[in-house]
Amino acid sequence: MKTLPLVFEEPKGPRGPKPKPPRHLADMTPAERRTHLEELGLPGFRARQLSTHYFSRLVDDPEQMTDLPAGQRGELVEGLLPRLMTPLKTQEADKGATRKTLWKLFDGSLVESVLMRYPGRTTICVSSQAGCGMACPFCATGQGGLQRNMSAAEIVEQVVAGARALGRGEVAGGPGRISNVVFMGMGEPMANYKAVIGAVRRLTDPTPDGLGMSARGITVSTVGLVPRINQLAAEGIPVTLALSLHAPDDELRDELVPINTRWKVAETVEAAWNYARATKRRVSIEYAMMRGINDQAWRADLLGDVLNSYGDWGWVHVNLIPLNPTPGSKWTASDPRDEREFVRRLEAKGISTTVRDTRGREIDGACGQLAAEG
Ligand code: SAH
Repeated sequence: MKTLPLVFEEPKGPRGPKPKPPRHLADMTPAERRTHLEELGLPGFRARQLSTHYFSRLVDDPEQMTDLPAGQRGELVEGLLPRLMTPLKTQEADKGATRKTLWKLFDGSLVESVLMRYPGRTTICVSSQAGCGMACPFCATGQGGLQRNMSAAEIVEQVVAGARALGRGEVAGGPGRISNVVFMGMGEPMANYKAVIGAVRRLTDPTPDGLGMSARGITVSTVGLVPRINQLAAEGIPVTLALSLHAPDDELRDELVPINTRWKVAETVEAAWNYARATKRRVSIEYAMMRGINDQAWRADLLGDVLNSYGDWGWVHVNLIPLNPTPGSKWTASDPRDEREFVRRLEAKGISTTVRDTRGREIDGACGQLAAEG
């Protein structure tokens, strides 16, 4: 196995820092949007109209922004709604209920988002970084390293683009709305904290300042950057935290989730527990089931004991993910019998447990498959 170094900082280009994505209203607070227009010599009050087009009406064609003076429309749109990304490819699965889009960002970086429609809810899985620096050996994104952090607006735009497609009835099942956003695409959200929080604020701010979504519908998934989990708990936005644990013991987790060499299982689970206490939100423990690696009955017992050592008041839910083998991977998914036994043992310890569905497998749209090959 080749080992990649853990990367926290954005890599620098050959000539210093890389150029930043264009600034977009979704990067800014409403007050900053006004100031930004004024600095461009444009009337600040137009910011609210542009925000309404973007967040409430989900308009992307300037022609439809007829409340803006035709002579100024171009400048206004360029000032606050610059194009951030272009779709390169869309793939569908599950009879159109799952849709993966490959996006090209302003600098050529590639990222993916996946829209999943279920009866009664529609979830979009978004990327927060181009690539990822966390180097988990079983994850496709982890194999390519980190290219760069995404901006808040680049994150939000994936959701808005999905909302537009749904609103226009382009997704099987007729017109609809997005109810859930999960930060489970490419990247480690907590390693791009500022932009991710900015994006969460834009998603939850009431329209037209933001998309007006409920924080309860948003899940931020992390390998466990402990100081960031603590910081998120203090933000006062009760998003759901998902912790990618994958092993209950340090020996194995050091290998599967290399950040564990920095923050151990005990510290990481304690941070998750503190998060649950602070936000009153149940934490989700993600556990990709790998045959013969982390799926033994004794590990199920140990996982249950580790989680219960913080209390058995239902602070935690375990989400088992059948491993999606990446090309050339030495690991495969668990035997269904071992999976059932794992569930049984966790439930016997009073821990609510589900096995995640495997939406989008055939389009590599499932967990950990987002590698943006183009
Ligand atoms: N970096 C964040 C979010 C992105 S990955 C995190 O690690 O939580 C989203 C989830 O998919 C994580 O739980 C991750 O461990 C899991 N995952 C990655 N590769 C996978 C694979 N090949 N099969 C199943 N799940 C995988």
